Amino acid sequence: MVWGFTLMALIMITHCGAGSTEKVLDASEKAGKVGFEILNKGGSALDAVVGATIVLEDDERLNAGTGSRLRLSGKIQMDASLMDSKRDCGCVAALEGVKNPIKVAREVMKTPHLFIAGEGANEFARSKGFEYYDPKTDRTVRAWEKVRKRLREKDLPSWAEKWEDYDVRDTVGAVALDSRGWFATSNSTGGTTFMLDGRVGDTPVIGAGLYAAEKGAVSATGIGEEIVRVVLSKWVYDRMVDGRHPQDACDASLELFEKDMPTGVIAVSKDGYGVSCNTKMAWWAREG
Ligand code: ASP
Repeated sequence: MVWGFTLMALIMITHCGAGSTEKVLDASEKAGKVGFEILNKGGSALDAVVGATIVLEDDERLNAGTGSRLRLSGKIQMDASLMDSKRDCGCVAALEGVKNPIKVAREVMKTPHLFIAGEGANEFARSKGFEYYDPKTDRTVRAWEKVRKRLREKDLPSWAEKWEDYDVRDTVGAVALDSRGWFATSNSTGGTTFMLDGRVGDTPVIGAGLYAAEKGAVSATGIGEEIVRVVLSKWVYDRMVDGRHPQDACDASLELFEKDMPTGVIAVSKDGYGVSCNTKMAWWAREG
């Protein structure tokens, strides 16, 4: 028996969230290049998406890790997730006081569980040696004060009428294909603008905010509650399994949403990659 594998073209894509602008394009590029370099050196797709996501979490202009949004209570609770071609997963939700939630998600991946939330996630992080870190910045505190004012004045976007209270921006995500033909996806967020403590959106929810298996990987961004309802990432993945090009699958998925519902998706399969968003979104991709 001879074992071997065909070297695949490498693909790395990063995004800075539905609604992010050209002002943070450099962040998606910097993170994408870090991920691509890992792939280039023969690293796994999983290592590449984790490496890229750490760079995005450390950029305080983005709503993930340092710079995460404050909840209405003034607390920061973060969600992060990872999944790869073997359907190995690691997800955390409502995690507090950690610099890089994606690293905690990676630790979860090594346990028999795939999702740890809330107080249990905080304790898990400490038990793995993650020291306390406050991801708050002056900018996010000012944004929080504005959010509270908007709530008081009922100054709300049309799609948030149900809450009479809520909004989104700048979650981060990455997908990759490595030289062995394996895929991986990752997400990290501080959540939406108007959030109760304990709220979990799509970002760490398998099938909704992310999905990966032997045929590809997908990462989504937008209004978590709406993304979960249509199980967006698995929807895109299934279209790719049916033979559609990732770009075609991503474009088609946006038809599941009202035009004014900010939604973005990035995907990769052996046919290439796709990036779609119905509003602005800073992203970066390299194939080679
Ligand atoms: N999907 C994220 C959430 O609902 C927010 C985002 O993508 O910007 O928490």
